[in-house]
Amino acid sequence: MHVLVIGSGGREHALCWGVARSSLATRLSCCPGNGGIANLAECVDISVEDFDDIVAHCHRETVDFVIVGPEVPLVGGLVDRLEQEGILAFGPNRRAAILEGSKVFTKALCRKHNIPTAAYGVFQDIDEARAYIQDRGAPIVVKADGLAAGKGAIVCETTEEALSAAENVLGGQFGDAGKEIVVEQFMVGEEASFFALCDGRNALPLATAQDHKAVFDDDKGPNTGGMGAYSPAPVMTEEMRQKTMERIILPTMRAMEQDGRSFKGVLYAGLMITDRGPQLIEYNVRFGDPECQVLLARWQSDPLAALIAAAKGQLAGYEVTWSERAAITVVMAAKGYPGEYAKGSEIRGVEAAEAVIGVSVLHAGTVRDGDRLLANGGRVLGVTAQGADIREARDRAYQGVDAIDWPDGFYRRDIGWRALDRDN
Ligand code: AMP
Repeated sequence: MHVLVIGSGGREHALCWGVARSSLATRLSCCPGNGGIANLAECVDISVEDFDDIVAHCHRETVDFVIVGPEVPLVGGLVDRLEQEGILAFGPNRRAAILEGSKVFTKALCRKHNIPTAAYGVFQDIDEARAYIQDRGAPIVVKADGLAAGKGAIVCETTEEALSAAENVLGGQFGDAGKEIVVEQFMVGEEASFFALCDGRNALPLATAQDHKAVFDDDKGPNTGGMGAYSPAPVMTEEMRQKTMERIILPTMRAMEQDGRSFKGVLYAGLMITDRGPQLIEYNVRFGDPECQVLLARWQSDPLAALIAAAKGQLAGYEVTWSERAAITVVMAAKGYPGEYAKGSEIRGVEAAEAVIGVSVLHAGTVRDGDRLLANGGRVLGVTAQGADIREARDRAYQGVDAIDWPDGFYRRDIGWRALDRDN
């Protein structure tokens, strides 16, 4: 079959990597792809938001199955559009993607169905938001309702910070995405990412993973899209996985189905593991990036077959098998990220990195210029390694990173520290 992947990041490179090893795929294309994806797929220069051109490409090239990577086209209704055209697609439709598209919707769903999450209030009016913040005090978290490219959650250590965050967001910092805000209690615990493959009714938990959001070592500095990830995540014990399914994922699936919003695709719960068990921080309606990279590294059965089963509503009794080995991704980013950074610097040594046993370099923001590979984004490479355990995977990943010659890049040196600390 001809498979099309939508997106251009490390997540989409990992998805292409998974599809390319499936015997079901005879042809693979990607809109728009990147400099690494180009080694596996035909990259077609169509934006993820240009639904007309994507549909035209599908018809012209007889695409059989579309995997939508990023949230923007999902929340915008790309899957609805593809289904109207009779094209099978992996991902939630617009009504189901609201779990990521509106934090107000998700919090209300949690409240109605007793799904554990932080106590909160919803505000459109700044005076009411101020009164709530003054009453609750800090630390407290202010969130824009809609999509804000991962920047819409502001963790505030003081009341003053929270007041100014509420003013900024309601004042238009994120445009319409901040017309309403959620103000919620700060939760204490360890974070984990939980992924379930869903077919509208059934939910199949995937392997566990944890990412590192802060930009610098020791979890210092501002939050990013993710500076690294590893799988498995020791904090997600079997007991925690079961509680997460029973208290969070399955009630959400039932509630969505009852509401005529059956969820198909991958449901990604951002969790805080507290002393009262797992609490939902937020939902995303797609694979995490860079968690997708470590999941695909450990995915042993055919990943494409599983995504097709989810899209067709055939996950009852389905099984995915995972490698016993651990995986780590170390993200290499352009200096300045997540603030301003330059594009266009040359990267050398990717082949040398991939010569290290167990290492694959997944591209997040690169472009080819003849024989040269150039940086073309904030997060640029995800050096991904497998090993017998987290320690070996970590050592190999950093051997790979050290082989890359890119003076304009930087990375964290401590990816996986929580898992390694537990071992010690
Ligand atoms: P979100 O975009 O909602 O995932 O939030 C981004 C990050 O902010 C999360 O990964 C957490 O580190 C932090 N965060 C969000 N909400 C809370 C909360 N209620 N308590 C503590 N940390 C939070």
